[in-house]
Amino acid sequence: MASPAVLMRLVASAYSVAEKAAAIVRKVMAGGDLGIVEKCGANDLQTKADRLVQMSICSSLSRKFPKLTIIGEEDLPSYDVDEELIENGQYEEILKKTCPPQYSTIKEEELVVWVDPLDGTKEYTEGLLDHVTVLIGIAYGGKAIAGIINQPYYNYEVKSASDAKFIERFANVYSLSHWPCEAGADAVLGRTIWGVLGLGAFGFQLKEVPDGKHIIITTRSHSSKMVNDCIGAMNPDTVVRVGGAGNKVIHLIEGKASAYVFASPGCKKWDTCAPEAILHAVGGKLTDIHGNSLHYNKEVKHMNSAGVLATLRNFDYYASRVPDSVKQALVP
Ligand code: AMP
Ligand code: MG
Ligand code: MG
Repeated sequence: MASPAVLMRLVASAYSVAEKAAAIVRKVMAGGDLGIVEKCGANDLQTKADRLVQMSICSSLSRKFPKLTIIGEEDLPSYDVDEELIENGQYEEILKKTCPPQYSTIKEEELVVWVDPLDGTKEYTEGLLDHVTVLIGIAYGGKAIAGIINQPYYNYEVKSASDAKFIERFANVYSLSHWPCEAGADAVLGRTIWGVLGLGAFGFQLKEVPDGKHIIITTRSHSSKMVNDCIGAMNPDTVVRVGGAGNKVIHLIEGKASAYVFASPGCKKWDTCAPEAILHAVGGKLTDIHGNSLHYNKEVKHMNSAGVLATLRNFDYYASRVPDSVKQALVP
């Protein structure tokens, strides 16, 4: 049999790399010292987990695929990476799948990888651990064509997660791979969702919100009057406020929200690349607030200045409801 296409080998490696990343995210939390640094203020944070995970992902992928362009969120000094951070594995199930023919001859140097080592950092520091994801997006010709989303704390449920005492008390078990909770003692902590355009998306159960229900999902820590005005214009039945772009797109594909609406700059290409690829692989749509597609070539500006609008179904309804005032204020 011919050797697998570069794209499939990269996705298979990125899957294993994302699992390693999740273990690092849990280990740093279990260690208790998050090493928080403010980047552009109190709502733009970086922790030791963001730093170690980016080093792990970027070094692991660039060793195996030296000609890739990899763009990570964090600005890090370039020093030697600890061998413990390197992941060499590849998920064999992915290698068994056939690469969509339009991508089968892509060369390594034509791919751009967008890495958000920890999406939802603010929530991570506040103990809202199920909001956190690790995002590895893969672009070709400026288009998001494949993505991996790992949720390190999937299956972990804390009703009042902001209760610091609770977090402290259970911090020592966060690094376990099995969460010893009553509701399924064997529940595995963490999961990896992946997808390729033309092939589909895997690692979750696709579900739609019931017809006619408008459940809007949006930011919890980067809100503004414009964000809320835009949501208000969509006639929502419910507004869900959670952290993370990865987490919000997971809500869309699992039928927990009908539209991800963020009428504000702030979200970057590493936030949207992997979620967009997975959403598009199952027939959804992610664009800026005007309905324009996003571009992921390596020269592109990092900021999604014109916001984010994403749905699994009924995109046109939500796009048609965006107020003109919002459109005028958000220039691509
Ligand atoms: P959120 O929905 O607030 O969790 O945002 C999704 C992603 O966009 C996260 O990675 C945030 O850090 C980023 N983001 C959104 N708005 C801002 C902002 N005003 N400043 C910095 N990062 C932002
Ligand atoms: Mg992010
Ligand atoms: Mg991040």
